[in-house]
Amino acid sequence: MLPTRGYAADSPTANLKPFDFERRELGARDILIKIEFCGVCHSDIHQVRDEWGGSIYPMVPGHEIVGRVEKVGTEVSKFKENDYAGVGCFVDSCRECANCAEGFEQFCLKHCAQTYNSTEMDEKTPTFGGYSSQIVVDENYALKISDTENLAAVAPLLCAGITTYSPLKRFNVGENQKVGVVGLGGLGHMGVKLAASMSARVTVFSTSPSKEQDARKLGAHDFVVTKNPENMKALAGSYDFILDTVSANHDLNMYLNLLKRGGAMVLVGAPEKAAEVSAFSLIGNNRTLAGSGIGGIAETQEMLDYCAANKILADVEIIPIQQIAEAYERTIKSDVRYRFVIDMNSL
Ligand code: NAP
Ligand code: ZN
Repeated sequence: MLPTRGYAADSPTANLKPFDFERRELGARDILIKIEFCGVCHSDIHQVRDEWGGSIYPMVPGHEIVGRVEKVGTEVSKFKENDYAGVGCFVDSCRECANCAEGFEQFCLKHCAQTYNSTEMDEKTPTFGGYSSQIVVDENYALKISDTENLAAVAPLLCAGITTYSPLKRFNVGENQKVGVVGLGGLGHMGVKLAASMSARVTVFSTSPSKEQDARKLGAHDFVVTKNPENMKALAGSYDFILDTVSANHDLNMYLNLLKRGGAMVLVGAPEKAAEVSAFSLIGNNRTLAGSGIGGIAETQEMLDYCAANKILADVEIIPIQQIAEAYERTIKSDVRYRFVIDMNSL
């Protein structure tokens, strides 16, 4: 077994602290990644604090992982030593079911082994995430990183990037479309960059007036402060697509009413409590309300290659692991600009 140092939470109320554990020895198709950077997703906070229920402790969070390949198993063909590799939200799946076969491993019909707060395919061995020194992963569940100059800013693409890229592609967002992004945090700022790169006209809907200048720099054409109902009324029925990235409970009807005929709103934010949706918010204008969960391996690689080709990176604040509690507090206060990324060499 491979002794590994990480940071873990041992209960929903505890701060994260140093934690020693073991990674498995390399199998024939495994690679060992020395983790350089790991992004801090709001999902880490939801899970550490058990806001979705069923959390497994001790929990080493982190699913926006980039690092250097230190060792490869005897049958590995996709990576060689010293390559850079990424790991996102899951590390294994059955590889046989219809969803795996069609590239939706995240919805594996048998079991999707999430990167942390989950179990390996035996459904017993706990998985530990990227707030750690190294990870062992099957090469088929690791991503190739071509932009090796900006590793810290690539890390958030592994979750925030794919989670926003996938629904934009699925709903064919593009030229001559008005797109709204609700919430300018980690996911939201990637949604803005990606939608703008696809030539959509992008509006940020935000509770934070102080983010307007940043929103425009990120590529937004318009910025609407949602706390003022008059701002919202004026825009009724005018959007093709809305991506809702908000992490806390909020009124969905207010945004659904902004959709034009046939428009769609996709939820990627995952607040703790269920939302109320009025049937009339959907009946009027034949609207669609949908959800989207991360993305499969092939689509994640497509997104990484798209971002490398279009020079799209996350805007990051790099922190040592010792500042993780403060980073969580600032994220909850919507005060991250726009993704905290842990320099894992601080461990
Ligand atoms: P984040 O960085 O904290 O951003 C969330 C943003 O939502 C905040 O910056 C803020 O933007 C807005 N917001 C926060 N509280 C609000 C409130 N009470 N009312 C209205 N707006 C509020 O979080 P993140 O990492 O982007 O994650 C966002 C959500 O997506 C989380 O729930 C996370 O678990 C979920 N997620 C889902 C998937 C998936 O596969 N579907 C993947 C990753 C993450 P403003 O300051 O602009 O208002
Ligand atoms: Zn995430």
